[in-house]
Order: sequence, then structure tokens, then C-alpha cells
Amino acid sequence: MNFDTPINYIKGVGPKLSEKFASVSINNVRDLIYYFPRNHEDFSHPETIDKIRPGNVVIKARVESIETRRTRKGFSMTTATVYDSSGKIQATWFNQPYREPQLKSDDEFYFAGEYAFSYNRFQLLNARVEKINDMQPGTDEIVSIYRQIKFLKTQAIRKILLSLRPFISTIPESLPESIINRQKLMCLSEALDSIHFPNDIGKLNKANHRLAFDELFQLLLASQLNKKANSQLVGYKIPFLQHIVKDLVDKLPYKLTNAQRIAAWDILQDLEKEIPMNRMVQGDVGSGKTVVAGIAMLQAAKNDYQSVIMAPTEILAIQHAETLSNMLEGFDIKVGLLTGKVKGSKRQLLYDVIASGEIDVIVGTHAVLQEKVVYKKLGLVVIDEQHRFGVNQRQALLSKSKLMPHLLSMTATPIPRSLALTLYGELDISVLNEKPVGRLPIITKLWSDSKRTELYEEIDNMIKEGRQAYVICSLIDDNVDNELKSVEQEYKKLKTGVFKNLKIGLLHGKLSADEKARIMDEFKNGTYHILVSTTVVEVGVDVPNATIMIIEDSERFGLSQLHQLRGRVGRSSFQSYCFLMYDNKSKPSQRLLEIEKSNDGFHLAEVDLKLRGPGEIYGKMQHGVLNLQIATLSDTKLIAECSKEAKYFVENGYELVQYSELERQVNYYQRLTTLN
Ligand code: ADP
Ligand code: MG
Repeated sequence: MNFDTPINYIKGVGPKLSEKFASVSINNVRDLIYYFPRNHEDFSHPETIDKIRPGNVVIKARVESIETRRTRKGFSMTTATVYDSSGKIQATWFNQPYREPQLKSDDEFYFAGEYAFSYNRFQLLNARVEKINDMQPGTDEIVSIYRQIKFLKTQAIRKILLSLRPFISTIPESLPESIINRQKLMCLSEALDSIHFPNDIGKLNKANHRLAFDELFQLLLASQLNKKANSQLVGYKIPFLQHIVKDLVDKLPYKLTNAQRIAAWDILQDLEKEIPMNRMVQGDVGSGKTVVAGIAMLQAAKNDYQSVIMAPTEILAIQHAETLSNMLEGFDIKVGLLTGKVKGSKRQLLYDVIASGEIDVIVGTHAVLQEKVVYKKLGLVVIDEQHRFGVNQRQALLSKSKLMPHLLSMTATPIPRSLALTLYGELDISVLNEKPVGRLPIITKLWSDSKRTELYEEIDNMIKEGRQAYVICSLIDDNVDNELKSVEQEYKKLKTGVFKNLKIGLLHGKLSADEKARIMDEFKNGTYHILVSTTVVEVGVDVPNATIMIIEDSERFGLSQLHQLRGRVGRSSFQSYCFLMYDNKSKPSQRLLEIEKSNDGFHLAEVDLKLRGPGEIYGKMQHGVLNLQIATLSDTKLIAECSKEAKYFVENGYELVQYSELERQVNYYQRLTTLN
């Protein structure tokens, strides 16, 4: 047996079980061993019944009586009286009828669960049960609890893992000995054994620490290796053309912010180097990232290099093409737009002029990186919105260019410093932490549902003065089970009610890309006074005249999402407003109070991190692409240690090939592109 042995080779795992495992991507022995328990139940220190207090408790008891009945709604409710030498209590399970045959009066059990007030009395609710005779005293009292797999319960999963124990004990170490010693880590086989079969808390903690170390170390090592690989590449030296850059900056209708100057300067210096740039510009919505990219592209074009800028959506690509054409007008620079919509002979023509070098700046969606697009001399690649390049994409780019082009990514998602190191360790980062001057801060107000009439009057006045408004809702279809307003319902309500004299548009995700673009255009050119929309408008178009935003059911949105949405207004010299509607039956959440107080995306990101923890915010990413089961992105101490050891690994000539298990995961991270 080895890590790659298919799951159905394990004793006791037939085709049916294999299928269940496969449904959660457990296909081989490795996958199963790395299916870590979601938590552990510690039965080693049960309390006596007379001592327990409300909250989570563990007791050791026998069952005096038990019965199951059906409730009127068709559920089952099993109620037992359980006792030890100090007293008795009632325990209740909902929809677990198997408890009755399980809990025989001759046996003694551990019960672990919440002791709480329910149905007019204190009782133990939905307790987990372990039969004492089935456990080995002194070793098995800490029990691993697994997430159920298609009704496959903890006990069944544990049983299969039990049969893998002999193999687990033979698993070789995956890290260099020097790191193990310096970090005083438990060895891998012992850690993997202990996470599933801990026999004391101390060991379990050590196992957790070891496995968390592995996860973060792999991530940081991948970053370091990417950085090293990048530093060994040779790219194009693109010299700084001072007078031309100055000319552009002077021609801008505004003065660059200090942050924009510094970022542009960082980039221009990077371009001059032989090592290709690998930089990320982080800047809140509206901080003016586009012009920074524009300066870099000007520099490239004037040195006879082509640049590509890739946007996440067609709408944004079109907008970038317009912005850049305007910005670069008078500099004899040709801007081309390449999206999925450009078809047939027009597309071929575009390919031709890109290949001949006639076009200097190519704006588009991911179409720009397709195989068919051949560049004459690609010197700079800019990606807008939260992507980074993995090894594969770099390889693809190399095939389009003799040498590695300079890479610049731009993101509007503010990432707290502590996380940036882990997530984007191989990137140099420039931060635009300053809003353009003269921009009035958006006034954000929490607004109770009961005072709608006053709000609508105010908005009506602003619209009469020529402004436009967004109304953001969170669902498309009517759902009777919740009180959320769907966009459609809201649209009808406003159209036939208070705003029946105004023109109202409707935008949501189920429309085709063409329809969306058309409606956004119409909103931009003033066809509508009000646009009722779902969050699709989040990465939408710049409509400076829209200065009002109402966010319905604002409690439904996360802090950073609210901030992103709000960034759609506040784009002109008129005062902008954002109204966060909340139901006056309850007090507004801390989240809403925070966003009312602050316009600073970085500050809000830090607050969000504190309020929810990285698991909530980056959870999908943490458990999805990052594969973090144990480590969390907030563990700055461990991150610092792992970062140190990853550097040590890279700088001291260790080779990944000698550590095959490590290599597997590190390679995966090295290839990773998007961290959305
Ligand atoms: P984002 O960082 O969200 O991509 P944009 O680049 O789209 O921001 O810029 C938002 C708006 O701010 C644009 O209309 C742009 O012309 C304007 N802008 C950019 N920099 C400045 C500045 N320094 N002063 C005033 N307006 C600016
Ligand atoms: Mg932008």
C-alpha cells in the first residue's frame, strides 16, 4: 500500500463506499488520510451530573428509560432519562430514532452535547454518544469527529481509517530534518496518526501544529520558488523616457495623487530592469489604478513594445479601451479592443495588426491570451482585478514573447498586510492608499425601513437636480420564505409607486452580456433616472453622475461587498450618498456601523478580518484552492516561521525532488493562478 493506492483497495471499502468517497474527491489512500476530523470530542474528563452547568458538557452515564415519539410535523423525538451515581437528567434527540435501539440499559456511555434550556426544562440536546465498552480506556477517549460524507457517519469513517493505521506508521518524513529539529515538529507519520487517533490533548496539539505548519510552509515555499524562478528569467529592459511620461502626466485633467506617483515610479523602475517585473497594485475602488497602468503602457509603447491589459468582463474591457484611448491621445499610440464579441474578418484583421505590431496597446478579456493571438513584441501584461499568474500562464506568455514580459496585476480588494505575505508572497506590492483630491467622501447613512418616505422625498429632489440613483437588491426571484425584495419586485414597486414619473432601468445577472451592456449604456447616457440592480453592478461601469445608492437589506451583504458596491458612487464632484436600509425590528450589526463610519477600504478589510476572522472572509479560498484544513491565514506567528523556513529551504540548496510529498503540493500552488 502507498499514498496513491486507490480507495477501493482498502479492506472493507467496496464499490458503494468508493462512490461515496469519490463524491467528495477522496480517491486514494492519501486523500483519505488527509481527510482530517472537523473537531475532536474529549471524553477523558467527564463531569458528574450534579456538577454540570449549561453549555457543552461530557458525562458518563447509563440509560434508565427511553422512548421515541413522532411530533405533529412528522419529526421524531427521542427522550431518555440518563443517570450516574450523582443524579439524573433528561436527554433529547431530534430525528435520530436509531438512538433508542443503540442506548441499551446494560451499557455505559459517554454523552457529549449541549446542556440547555429547551421545552421548559434543562436537558442535554442532540448529544453525541460513545459506548464505553467499544473504546480502549486510556487511549480512545479523545474521539475524532468527521464531516459526514453522504450519510457516512463518523464511526464508519473512523473504522476505515483504523485499518490504515499500520500504513500511517510507515509514512516517511516530508520535510528536511533541520527544519523538523529547529521547529521542534512532531514527525509526519506520528502527526497523521495523532490527528485521527489522538490519545492525549498534548499530542493532538502537537499534531495540529505540525500539520498546520505543513500547509503554510507549502504555500510559502511555492511563493518563494516562483519568486526565485522569476528572478532567474531574463526580460526586456524598457528605459525610462522622462519627457514623455512628464508630458502625459501634464496633459491629464487632474493631478496624480502621491500614491499614484509612487506606484508609477515603482513600476517604471521595474520596467528598466532585466528581471521581469512581477508587481501588484492594490488600490481601493476609485483610487485611480487605470492611469498608473496607462503610464506603464505608454512607456512600453514608446520603446516599441506592445502591452496587453486584460479585464475580467467585457464591459470593463470596453471601458478601459475608451479610457486608455483618451489618455494616450496625441502620443501616436494605437489601442485595440479584443473581446469574444469581435468576430469573423474583423477579428482576423485585429490578429493581423497585432502580429504586425501596428497596435501598441491591446485591451481585452482573457481572449488576449489565446493561442491564436500572436504578438510582435509583447513587453508588458496587465491584469485587472485579482488574478496572479501561475507557472502555466507564465509559460503561455513566454510562448508569445521571446523573453518574459513584465507582469502587473491590479486589484481593488484591499488585503490586510498580514495576509498579503501569505497570499502574494512572490509579488512586489504597491498600495494606492489615497483617494484623488477634490473627491467628496461618500456620505453613508444607515436608514431604517420605517422612514422610507422621507428618504424617497430626498432622492426625488436630488434626481430633479439632475443626479441618478442605484437601488441594489440581493435576489432575483421572489422567494416567499424570506422577506427579501427581489429586484423585479422592487422595480415594479418603484415604477408604479413613488417614482412612477421617473424612468427606471432593471439590471440583473440573468440578462445576456449584450443586454447588460445596453442597459448600463442607457443608464450612463441618462435614459434612466434610477437603476434597480443586483450586485452585477459591482464590477460595472463608471457612471459619475450616479451619486445615490440605496442598498436594500444591507444586512445580507458582507462588509467588503458593501464597500465595493458603494464604490460605484462618489465618482464626481457632486456629493454622493449611500443609504444602507435595515429592518428597524433589530439593531444594526457592527458591520453596518463600521461601514457607516469609514470610507477606507483597507481599514474596513482589517475590521472585517477582526469581526469575522479569515475563515469567513477567505474561507472558500482557504478550503478550496488553498487546501488549508488546519492552518488559518490569521496565524501570523506561524506564517512568519514558515516564511523563514521556506527561505531557508530555497537558499540552502534543498531540492524539491528529494521530498516527493512536499513537491506534489508545492507544485499545485506554483501553478495556481487566480485567488478570487
Ligand atoms: P480604479 O482604481 O477603481 O480602477 P479608476 O482608474 O477607474 O479607478 O479611476 C476612477 C476615476 O478617477 C476615473 O474617472 C479617473 O479618471 C479618475 N482619477 C484617477 N486618478 C485621479 C486623480 N489623481 N485625480 C482625480 N481623478 C482621478
Ligand atoms: Mg479599475
